[in-house]
Amino acid sequence: MERKVVYIFLASLILILLILTGLYLANNNYQNTNDKSQTSDDKIGVVVTVGPQEEFTKRVGGDRINVMVMVPQGADPHTYEPLPNQMKQVQEAEIYYMVGSGIEFELTWMAKLTAMNPQMEVVNTSQGIELLPNTEEYEGNDPHVWVSPKNAKIMVENIYTNLIEIDPENKDYYQKNRDEYFKKLDELDKNTTKILSDQNNTKIMVYHPSWAYFCRDYDLKQIPIESQGKEPTPQGIASLVDQARRDNIRVIFVSPQYSSTNAQVIAREIGGRVVFVDPLSNNYMQNMKKVAESFANS
Ligand SMILES: [Zn+2]
Repeated sequence: MERKVVYIFLASLILILLILTGLYLANNNYQNTNDKSQTSDDKIGVVVTVGPQEEFTKRVGGDRINVMVMVPQGADPHTYEPLPNQMKQVQEAEIYYMVGSGIEFELTWMAKLTAMNPQMEVVNTSQGIELLPNTEEYEGNDPHVWVSPKNAKIMVENIYTNLIEIDPENKDYYQKNRDEYFKKLDELDKNTTKILSDQNNTKIMVYHPSWAYFCRDYDLKQIPIESQGKEPTPQGIASLVDQARRDNIRVIFVSPQYSSTNAQVIAREIGGRVVFVDPLSNNYMQNMKKVAESFANS
C-alpha cells in the first residue's frame, strides 16, 4: 500500500516536470519565431529590375531594406523571364522600383507582377530623366538610362523620395545615405569627364547599343554592331569593318550578356581587339570606373 502511494507520487512528479519542460520549450520557441518574424518584417521588401538599381537602392535604404533583383547577373533584360521563386518573392514585396524607361522586361512582365501583388507600390525611378530616342531603326526610347552617373543621381533621388514617404521615421538615415552616395556619384562623373576629356566625339564600336546616355554625357558616339537586336549580316559586318578602318577604331566593345563572335570577326579584320564592358553590373560605382577607363584607353 505504501509503495503504491510512492509510485503515484513519483509518477505525478514526473508528469509535472514534463508539463513544465513542455511549457518552457513552447514559450521559448514562440519567442524565437516571434523575434525572427519581427526582424524580417521590419525590413522593407524591395524589388528592382536590373543590377545597377540594386546598388542605388541599397546605398539609400541601407539595413532598413531587403532588395531582390529580377534580371540576374549575366542575363539580358531585353529577353529575361522571371523564375517561379522570383514570382513568389514579388508576391511578398512592398515596393517595386521600376527602371521605367521602357526596358523590355518591364514592358512584358510588370502587368503580371502587379496583378500578383496589387498592394505592391510601383515607382518609376526614371521620373525626371530626359529620355533619348533609340538608336537607328528601333522604335521608342533608349531604356539604358542608368549608365549615366547623372541619370543615376535622379534614380537615387526618386528612391530616396519614396523611402522617406513610406518610412518617415528614418528620414535622417536615408538622407545621410543619399548624400554620401551623391558625393561618390559626383566624383565618378567628374573623374569620367576628366579621363575622357581628350576624346571629343570619338566613335566607339559596341556590340549592343547600351551606352547612349554615357556617350551623351562624355561626348562619345557609339556605333552598334547589333542591328535591331539581331546579329549583323555578312554585308553588315563588311560595312562595319570599313567604318572601323575609316574612323581608326582599334577596340570593339562587347557586354558579357552577348556573344562576342561577330565582334571577334571585326576585330580580326581591323587588327584590333575585343574588350568587355558591362552595363548591368550590380557593383555600379566600381564597374563604371572600369568602363570609363576602357573607353579612354581605346
Ligand atoms: Zn540593352
